[in-house]
Amino acid sequence: MGKIKVAINGFGTIGKRVADAVDAQDDMEIIGVTKTGPSFGCDLAVKKGFPLFCTFDDKEKIAAFATQGYECSGGISQMLAIADVVVDCSPGKMGAENLLKYQNAGVKYMFQGGEKHALTGLSYTSCANHSANLNAAGTRVVSCNTTGLSRTLVPLYDHCGSLTVECTMIRRAADPGDSKKGPINAIKPVLSVPSHHGPDVMTVKPEISINSLAVAVPTTIMHVHSIIADLPSGHGLTTNSILDMWKNSPRIIVMSGAENKLTTTAEVMEMARDIGRKWGDLHEIFVWEDGVKLVGDRLYYFQAIHQESDVIPENVDCIRALMGTETDWRASVAKTDAAIDAYYGL
Ligand code: NAD
Repeated sequence: MGKIKVAINGFGTIGKRVADAVDAQDDMEIIGVTKTGPSFGCDLAVKKGFPLFCTFDDKEKIAAFATQGYECSGGISQMLAIADVVVDCSPGKMGAENLLKYQNAGVKYMFQGGEKHALTGLSYTSCANHSANLNAAGTRVVSCNTTGLSRTLVPLYDHCGSLTVECTMIRRAADPGDSKKGPINAIKPVLSVPSHHGPDVMTVKPEISINSLAVAVPTTIMHVHSIIADLPSGHGLTTNSILDMWKNSPRIIVMSGAENKLTTTAEVMEMARDIGRKWGDLHEIFVWEDGVKLVGDRLYYFQAIHQESDVIPENVDCIRALMGTETDWRASVAKTDAAIDAYYGL
């Protein structure tokens, strides 16, 4: 079988990262990315050699690219015609309209966490339900928060056989490149309770009983989760064995905040920039070792999420699930991560 032909619809914060991660793999290739019109983001596609398509099929919109010196290979229909799978990275809530385009083109499709589970009836995280997504027509890679919750909760669930969780998402107000959102001087509770983040975990692991609250705070660099998980009696775990479980699980970094002088998200992101992935990304979930404690059957912990990047390797694994080319999620994760780090010379 040749390389999987991947199209990216929406070359923004998530789209450009997924494109790089796909480009790093030897079993898939980028056949096109879309922009709504000419803008600085087109330069990156040109630099990477990704064919640039217009988000729409209108002749005028396609022609507008040339007025600013960009070569546009055509409208979205032309891109979909040559793709095996399209990764929809449009802003949230545009899914229903785009889904029709994908179905009409007969191409497999993946949405992001800004869309609801109901759009596809199927959602995805690598560690929770890779096998349930094998050969599906389309799915949704869950949000950065839900991905982060899955990474640490699924291994716990797999050991315990049941899990009841209450958590609070302390959310960044905006991405670093976003000038439209806030708050900039307030703490903003999400007044629809419970928030969607916790229950969204149940779209990939229905067996975990979980609820969440959320507040937005004036920072742009990470989310922090404050989590309380009730384990069933007889679980046989200790604080140290839970830390070892996470250290041995993919895409989780466990480090002592005090010993490493990593006590806030600012230092965690500085460490991520030192790792050297593009954009200073941190694909792993960061757990503060000294913030984890099992008291009786109740587990307390904090974790930090780099919102723009933890879902990126999941998208790559998800492509393999939809195409049915890798049935073992751990094998896909290992392949994805090794290829990305090799791509960046790490
Ligand atoms: P973004 O605004 O940075 O990028 C969206 C891109 O899509 C832009 O280039 C925009 O021009 C383009 N676009 C606009 N209308 C379009 C359309 N109709 N069809 C296709 N493309 C269109 O948004 P983002 O942050 O990359 O978010 C994309 C998706 O990923 C959303 O569902 C979001 O909820 C989800 N997500 C975002 C983050 C994050 O931290 N930014 C994390 C996880 C998941």
